[in-house]
Amino acid sequence: MDNCIFCKIASGEIPSNTLYEDEGFRVILDNGPATKGHALVLPKEHYANLFEIPEDVLAKAAVVAKRVAGTMKDKLSCDGLNLVQNNGETAGQTVMHFHLHIIPRYRDDGQSILWKPTSPTSEELAAIRDTITGEGC
Ligand code: AMP
Ligand code: ZN
Repeated sequence: MDNCIFCKIASGEIPSNTLYEDEGFRVILDNGPATKGHALVLPKEHYANLFEIPEDVLAKAAVVAKRVAGTMKDKLSCDGLNLVQNNGETAGQTVMHFHLHIIPRYRDDGQSILWKPTSPTSEELAAIRDTITGEGC
């Protein structure tokens, strides 16, 4: 992808604060971090989102994230950690190159990566289950 900033960062064409690199991935510090140490796992190949990324590449991205998360816990003494992955503008994706956010969390960091729970009826839950699984069609 010629005009993709994360392709350019992942390949090294644009410099970044790299935490980890191997043949398939580069992990960089987010330049608009939610918290201290907020990082992004970038595959070097371009995939727009979860729907496009092949399963084997996704599995490797998860392993890279786990390793970096462990290092964050050791080196930053974070109290918790969120893995976040946005797909599509509606879900908050702003860069259309698959990436996994690794967000170390600290007590009183003032961030909130939560949703507002709703209260569906058991019938509504069953209906959405059937829609997703194809039951009852
Ligand atoms: P998302 O909203 O899930 O697409 O996340 C995109 C993330 O990329 C945001 O957290 C941005 O702060 C971050 N970002 C955008 N451009 C850069 C860049 N050049 N270097 C590092 N992080 C970036
Ligand atoms: Zn790209």
